[in-house]
Amino acid sequence: MVFASVPKAVGLVYALAGILALAYLWHTGRFSRRKGLPILAVTALLGFLIFSPVAPYQFQLLVLRDVAGLGAPVLLVAVGLAVMLGLALLFGRIFCGHFCPVGALQEIAAHLSPKKVGRTQKKVSMAVRGGVFLAFFAAGLLFSFNLLGALGVHDLFHLALGVPAAIFLGILALSAFVYRPFCRFICPYGALLAVASSESLYRFVRTDLCIECGRCERACPVDEAKKTDAKAECYMCGRCVEVCPAEGALHYARR
Ligand code: SF4
Ligand code: SF4
Repeated sequence: MVFASVPKAVGLVYALAGILALAYLWHTGRFSRRKGLPILAVTALLGFLIFSPVAPYQFQLLVLRDVAGLGAPVLLVAVGLAVMLGLALLFGRIFCGHFCPVGALQEIAAHLSPKKVGRTQKKVSMAVRGGVFLAFFAAGLLFSFNLLGALGVHDLFHLALGVPAAIFLGILALSAFVYRPFCRFICPYGALLAVASSESLYRFVRTDLCIECGRCERACPVDEAKKTDAKAECYMCGRCVEVCPAEGALHYARR
């Protein structure tokens, strides 16, 4: 199903333009979780049609130095991933929120059930992902092992049904009950984006209009809505804004 003739750069341009547009729309209060649904659908579709912008897998191929698999010049991919990291430093994880096909599929699955387990286990999930990050590099550099390939990221989008695709399907099914398990426990590129996001210039901040009702904190699936949270794991999902009863209390702005 994937059209290999379409340059992967198309997905990259889509993501970069989308990140800038959403940053503007969140900042001006013209975006909402519901409005994000069509974007999630387009992003997921792009994953199946051109397998781009699947940044985690591009990152995997970079580590493996798989020039043929990248489908674009190495330098271009490296620069694209670096620019995305820079944008996370400015605007938070808008890429993860709406423009990564892997994240989009999990977010769509997350819409199926409001109840999630492990919501407050942020430290555990980040520690696990840190361990996976080290294993990912060691396996890639020392043994040329394609970890994300083994987990089915490539195969599912290419509709190559087999054990790896079944594993990734299982992760997607789990996403209905555990928020974004791949992003929070596995994704090596997400681990880098989380570091950038924890220092992001723009993020959801509470204003003086906040009435301290705590609804945003209860709605946040990753325990990042408290005043002091670093936002490393904030996926810009908009659940906190959606449930906030005090208009203007939560704003996407410079911290
Ligand atoms: S954490 Fe990884 S898989 Fe999840 S949305 Fe971000 S880049 Fe994609
Ligand atoms: S609900 Fe949590 S993850 Fe979603 S935008 Fe708000 S703080 Fe970020």
